[in-house]
Amino acid sequence: MKKPELLAPAGNFEKLRIAVHYGADAVYLGGQSYNLRSLADNFSLEEMAAAVSYAHDRNVKVYLTVNSFPDNGDLPGFYRYLEDIAPLPFDAYIVADPGVIDMVRELSPQRALHLSTQANTTNWRSAQFWEKQGVERVNLAREMSLAGISEVRQRVNLGLEMFVHGAMCISYSGRCLLSSVMTGRDANAGECAHPCRWNYALVEEQRPGEYFPVLEDGTGTFIFNSKDLCLLEYLPELVSSGVDSLKIEGRMKGIHYLASVVRVYREALDRYFEAPECYRLRPEMLEELHKISHRGYTTGFLFGRPGKSDREYHSSYIRTWDFVGIVEEAGVNGEIVVEARNRLAVGDTLEFIGRGLSSNLYRLQEMSAPGEKTIPGGSSLQIAHPNQRISFRVPFPVEKYDLIRREK
Ligand code: SF4
Repeated sequence: MKKPELLAPAGNFEKLRIAVHYGADAVYLGGQSYNLRSLADNFSLEEMAAAVSYAHDRNVKVYLTVNSFPDNGDLPGFYRYLEDIAPLPFDAYIVADPGVIDMVRELSPQRALHLSTQANTTNWRSAQFWEKQGVERVNLAREMSLAGISEVRQRVNLGLEMFVHGAMCISYSGRCLLSSVMTGRDANAGECAHPCRWNYALVEEQRPGEYFPVLEDGTGTFIFNSKDLCLLEYLPELVSSGVDSLKIEGRMKGIHYLASVVRVYREALDRYFEAPECYRLRPEMLEELHKISHRGYTTGFLFGRPGKSDREYHSSYIRTWDFVGIVEEAGVNGEIVVEARNRLAVGDTLEFIGRGLSSNLYRLQEMSAPGEKTIPGGSSLQIAHPNQRISFRVPFPVEKYDLIRREK
């Protein structure tokens, strides 16, 4: 049994640090052009170089997304971009378009190529085709079942990657025109406004302004509206299917999501490989995934076609905890410096989330500006605002980059 890689999104440098801190084996990120998350912060050339060396120093691999589909007019700029990034020691490029693969072959012949989910690999013949093209790994379409994945594994030697967690797009692995037609934001350039999750009515063209409700139930119709993918409960089955990499979706999600998802899957994978025969999913792992903003969870296509219960019947997210701060310095005697990311007040009950499943509740009794002497029995600050740095003491071990949250 081979332990799969845990692959996490890194939408910017801070997210990269968080993914590494909480235990990702590899991260994927995009430059400022030609990747499918143009609304994420993304990385400049200098930042990409710094990101690769930061990750490599910690034995974490870095894959660069260059998975957009250029048109003829984009080709010269795309080619120059590939020339610019060629010297950077990425562990692989994530690609989708055969023309881009051809350009990479010309400019960086040694570069490992991972085929993006955008290329929609749904069967073993496709996987064999990409193997013959020298692609090192394919990301299997989210539309594949567990049985289908196992069959692909038996027929190819190339690496197999699959999404295990994150938002699901109801369009075939991301090809959709809804957003660009309705809002001018092109989903295939990573700018999707998610109109598939909005409410709709029926209008007959001779009766403008008369909206006939389309009701699936009392609250509307949600035929396009998928829950989020969560395969945590089926890690043993995924490992047995022979996949090499478990990928977490969400370069545009916040660091609270990233930290929680990475630490839970890290812990589950490590525990499973310590003693597969005794492995049981711990309830607190699922509880942790319910503490982050999500849309209800589904196993997607893993066990067949999704049904009614795999759709979400409202447009909003479930959010029960607020992310309130990040530990910037952890000194001796429990003295810590925190950057507030939300309003914090003396008296708040905070939860510190560390690596593994470590978690500590603490009632904030006093705080001060970093470096300021704390007043015994008092507090020099009562309230901290977002981006303010504060200092206080906690009676348990805390590490730099641990996150802090508060129940709503
Ligand atoms: S509108 Fe919905 S279905 Fe279309 S790309 Fe965006 S998330 Fe996917």
